[in-house]
Amino acid sequence: MIDNTKTSVSIRNLSLSFGSVQVLQEMNLDVKYGEFIVLLGPSGCGKSTLLNCIAGLLDVTGGQIYISGKNVTWEEPKDRGIGMVFQSYALYPQMTVRKNLSFGLRVAGLPREEIDKRVKRASEMLQIEPLLDRKPANLSGGQRQRVAIGRALVRDVDVFLFDEPLSNLDAKLRADLRVEIKRLHQRLENTMIYVTHDQIEAMTLADRIAIMRDGIIQQLDTPHEIYNRPVNLFVAGFIGSPA
Ligand code: ADP
Ligand code: MG
Repeated sequence: MIDNTKTSVSIRNLSLSFGSVQVLQEMNLDVKYGEFIVLLGPSGCGKSTLLNCIAGLLDVTGGQIYISGKNVTWEEPKDRGIGMVFQSYALYPQMTVRKNLSFGLRVAGLPREEIDKRVKRASEMLQIEPLLDRKPANLSGGQRQRVAIGRALVRDVDVFLFDEPLSNLDAKLRADLRVEIKRLHQRLENTMIYVTHDQIEAMTLADRIAIMRDGIIQQLDTPHEIYNRPVNLFVAGFIGSPA
């Protein structure tokens, strides 16, 4: 029997098919508490599908998902203790930044003081305090993505899932936000599962990288190991290791 309490997120023999197409194939992955894992791979290899399974937005075809030792495979997304940030910002356009941050907490029935405290903390961390009374239409792409991250932050969850959060931003902003996400993680010490197809993002952010191809993890290791000791030509080619 595998002891799942020792891991923040455990994926056991996870499979997912869309019709007759198998997108995830008997996948196994253990993420430690506080670890920053990057799922890296070409477009269409199943990264978002895996993240959506962990988040509970897709029903799995087989296998189990454990979060902090609890089998959540069939739990509602809201009961999984995760926060998710998507590529598109998905902010509520009619609400101010403050309301965008607090809305979910109000729906959950948290006391006012607690909501204010969390909004203050998140907006300070992400340096969006001056933007609290603005609406999304009056924000830049980078500012919107900060708010989207803030909305996951206020929920005070143990596990964050990021699906290519920076891919709509220009190179300069991407580099800036990369540094901030890294800093945020060092401060929060929560578990991060971060999807990207960008090798530089993966190398700079990850404690460990899982390189995926066709729904299969090819190699799971530190950036250093993956770069210096790729297990096959696909990994070497994708990460840009010297051959
Ligand atoms: P990635 O995020 O790595 O780019 P995805 O997880 O989005 O890849 O997609 C993996 C594969 O599953 C792709 O071949 C994609 O076309 C297919 N796919 C994704 N979502 C659906 C869906 N809702 N219905 C059918 N096929 C899908
Ligand atoms: Mg994707």
